[in-house]
Amino acid sequence: MNLSNDYSILTDKARLVIGSTTKLFIDGYYQEPTKGQYYSIVDPSNDEHIAQVARACATDVDKAVDAATRAFETGVWASMRPHEREAAMLRLAELLIENGKELSELETLSSGKLISNTRAFDVDFSVYTLRYMAGWSTKISGQSIDLSVPYLPDEHFSGSTMHFPIGVVAAITPWNVPLCQAIWKLAPVLATGCTVVIKPAEQTPLTTLRLAQLCIEAGIPSGVVNVITGYGSEAGKMLVEHPGVNKVTFTGSTGTGKLIGATAASQMKACTLELGGKSPVIIAEDADLTEAIPGAAWAIWGNHGQNCCAGSRLLVHHSIYNQVVEGVKEIAESLKLGPGLNPYSQMGPLVHKEHRQNVLNFIKSGLEAGGELITGGYAVEGPGAYIEPTIIASLSADAHMVQNEIFGPVLSVFSYRDDEEAIALANSTSFGLGASIWSKNVDRIDKYFRRLSAGMVWVNNHNVIDLALPFGGHKDSGMGKELGYQGMISHTKIKTKIYKRNLGSL
Ligand code: ADP
Repeated sequence: MNLSNDYSILTDKARLVIGSTTKLFIDGYYQEPTKGQYYSIVDPSNDEHIAQVARACATDVDKAVDAATRAFETGVWASMRPHEREAAMLRLAELLIENGKELSELETLSSGKLISNTRAFDVDFSVYTLRYMAGWSTKISGQSIDLSVPYLPDEHFSGSTMHFPIGVVAAITPWNVPLCQAIWKLAPVLATGCTVVIKPAEQTPLTTLRLAQLCIEAGIPSGVVNVITGYGSEAGKMLVEHPGVNKVTFTGSTGTGKLIGATAASQMKACTLELGGKSPVIIAEDADLTEAIPGAAWAIWGNHGQNCCAGSRLLVHHSIYNQVVEGVKEIAESLKLGPGLNPYSQMGPLVHKEHRQNVLNFIKSGLEAGGELITGGYAVEGPGAYIEPTIIASLSADAHMVQNEIFGPVLSVFSYRDDEEAIALANSTSFGLGASIWSKNVDRIDKYFRRLSAGMVWVNNHNVIDLALPFGGHKDSGMGKELGYQGMISHTKIKTKIYKRNLGSL
């Protein structure tokens, strides 16, 4: 089987990117990197070079933050009427739809993801996100509060709160859902009147660069949205440290998130961190297995396990353990590996070969710790970063591969005897992002909901995300929320006003 992407089926616009050299997007136009340095990005289906990408240096980061600061301070965006900001965001959503095929192809080329996935999440879900957040533009409101001021009994006061845009936002995004993550960060920025510098992951910057151009087409003023590309340890780090940045919003690994959080705290910057996970999928003895088995399989094999909420630990009641593990194994073995652009592929390559090696190292550590290989376990030979979906049983809860995020299609399976044991096992890692409980018993579901250490608990589903609900984890999975009202309002700062009334108490 040919595991390499077929470029002849690309749209003309997407094909243009092959062999091209991209630039930085600062102050409304593409600019050469100051030092003229570039790096190469590759197609993980065949390891071939796709494009040269600009490697931003300190001067470029300064330029981008300066452009965002000017755009913020002159008020070209923040002082625009909310309904005009809303209209521009809705135009941007339309442009994403118009250019959806090109965007999903660009995403698939550099990430290896399936084209159906890049269309449904990176493009279509981005459209919904923009529309949802556009609606908030006209609805940001404070409160009016009657005040007591007990130590001034003869005087009367009223108080009010008002939300102001927080300022220049630094947005650092990962490679697993690149456009979707850029939009999750951009949409609340635009709704609240902030400006932004986005630093996409080194491997997957193409769609974010294109997005910046679409922002200009949508009528969002120059300087409001800037994109710098380059390495996380250089451009990303300098952006987070830049004194002109007022808020940092980051999605990525827990290790990098802790570094970023420490820098932000030392400079009193607002900070939202959406980090790693080791989410348990718990299948109780009363679960509907016709739903739970494919649900557990989708939870880990979806996006090749490269999801922060991936259900990478499967906890099954001992009475149904064999049946569930056999069912998830059958699905794993039926998956058709292939290049992301081929609509018949069911699992693409991982994002790059070094990442695949990390995943293989985790598998090796699991087997060395006494794990039993149920299926998979190997890289696919030849070009591309393909790996077999893998299930390992009989591990102890404290094994290295059980305690750490793998970010690949590798599942550890466990059998438990009662709810107490399942809850203890589910909560036994440092992460707290998501968890799912599959059961028909409402009392059991309520118990799990209250006791699972997770920002998001799914009942009879896993990793379903909606714009109206805040998204984010507890413990080492991060702090703050994206999406929902909370994800929007965290891009504002509150001011209070205390007003002395001279006309008495009424
Ligand atoms: P991964 O190791 O899977 O690439 P990371 O969490 O390191 O995950 O990367 C997520 C994003 O964070 C990427 O855009 C990357 O460039 C960026 N990044 C990496 N290190 C830093 C850093 N020290 N400061 C800021 N951004 C960083």
